[in-house]
Amino acid sequence: MNEFIKSFNPVNQEFIGEVVKTDVNEISKLVEKSKIAQKKWKNLTIDERIDYLVNASSQLIPEINKLAILLSKEMGKDLNRSIGEVSGCAHDVSYKAAEVKEAIQTQVFENYGMKTQMQYNALGVCAVISPWNYPLSMAHWLIIPALVAGNTVILKPSEETPLISQAYVDLFNKILPKDVLQIIHGDEIQGKALVNSDVNLIAFTGSKDAGINIMQNASSKLKRLIMELGGKDPLIVLKDADINKAARFAVASSFENSGQMCTSTERVYVHESIIEVFENLVVEYAKQYKTGSWDEEADIGPIINKKQKNIILEQVEDALNKGAKLLYGKINKDDAFIYPSVITDVKQDMKLFTDETFAAIVSISSFSTNDEAILKANDSEFGLGAVIFGKEDVENIASQLEAGMLGINQGLGSVGDTPWVGSKQSGFGYHGSPDGHRQFTQVKIITQRS
Ligand code: NAD
Repeated sequence: MNEFIKSFNPVNQEFIGEVVKTDVNEISKLVEKSKIAQKKWKNLTIDERIDYLVNASSQLIPEINKLAILLSKEMGKDLNRSIGEVSGCAHDVSYKAAEVKEAIQTQVFENYGMKTQMQYNALGVCAVISPWNYPLSMAHWLIIPALVAGNTVILKPSEETPLISQAYVDLFNKILPKDVLQIIHGDEIQGKALVNSDVNLIAFTGSKDAGINIMQNASSKLKRLIMELGGKDPLIVLKDADINKAARFAVASSFENSGQMCTSTERVYVHESIIEVFENLVVEYAKQYKTGSWDEEADIGPIINKKQKNIILEQVEDALNKGAKLLYGKINKDDAFIYPSVITDVKQDMKLFTDETFAAIVSISSFSTNDEAILKANDSEFGLGAVIFGKEDVENIASQLEAGMLGINQGLGSVGDTPWVGSKQSGFGYHGSPDGHRQFTQVKIITQRS
């Protein structure tokens, strides 16, 4: 008898659809199929694989609106963001694949009468395990380099967003050869079974705790890992910062994707001399955000599920009980939302500053010297992104911050083919950039007399 995963609109628990939960006993058989398909897939030329993938992704183009509505219904984000996410996946394959192709072409060295080739070969079967907050792009960013490099992929999407993931895979599979891209559905039980199966690489995006468990399970056979984990990104606002721009950024970044983003700002450290003006501006900006369902032209959507909302409420309660102040917002336990909030006087040991929050809350604290700001910003097990607003000494401060990605007077992001990379317990292994693309391959050195 099949078991099902039912998908519900997080705003009102309306049933949207269901998928069959994958029987854990079937997973090793699916991996076998992937292995068989990989033998043929890796023997295609890289241009043939890219042609397949560009064609496959273009299947999304006429469906962008339909897919975006499904994504919004299932995950709760507003329609514009969903359209952007689907559209990115539909249109970015040709240039991303070209970057991968360039990064993994064989390098040849000749010297002392010898010729050495450095090849970047496929690893085999890649498990892509993905979260719900960007249910398409988080999977897509790992699926594409894995497939271009000649691996086959088994995707295990989040149990919160199975429908949109299934729709994506179905469209790709109108074009891709059989079993090159498979999907399994389930929660951590299926995830663990996939990690323990005979896959060669696990490309994971999700929480730190799941990452630790995946690493433990993958260690028995030294499986390759790419780990994109959680964050607790700090924003430092120096005394000579453009306060208005910094306040606007603090709100926009803390509220992005309803705060449910790994690189959203979660801790704001403001110089004590400007904190009052800064807080007033933050509250004014926060008031401009509207909360509601994806079809109500709202900026802030629901929290993905009750469990997650309770974690957030517990963090807020912990902070307020220990002396933090709610400057703006309302704490409503009865619906699916965390309304845009501003909390100040947050201390380093409060859960709001130690644990990932994942909600539209600007959490503020003060500092008196730049050294104190650096110490506080680095006082976290996470190290994904960090942002500084200010003038004097900003580059020096940036160089002392423990983060994989930094922004100075702007958010994260870069020009060029650079990696999406975390430090400390925000992960290791990464995608993007020549080094990132090569992590989906096995390096092989072949030397002969020339
Ligand atoms: P999660 O870790 O609960 O789940 C992610 C995926 O892993 C899901 O598919 C889940 O079923 C599966 N899973 C859970 N436990 C597992 C286990 N032990 N073995 C194998 N699979 C397992 O994360 P989530 O709640 O879906 O997503 C939110 C988290 O993802 C946040 O921590 C966020 O910061 C992080 N994230 C990180 C990035 C990044 O690029 N660094 C991007 C997006 C999200």
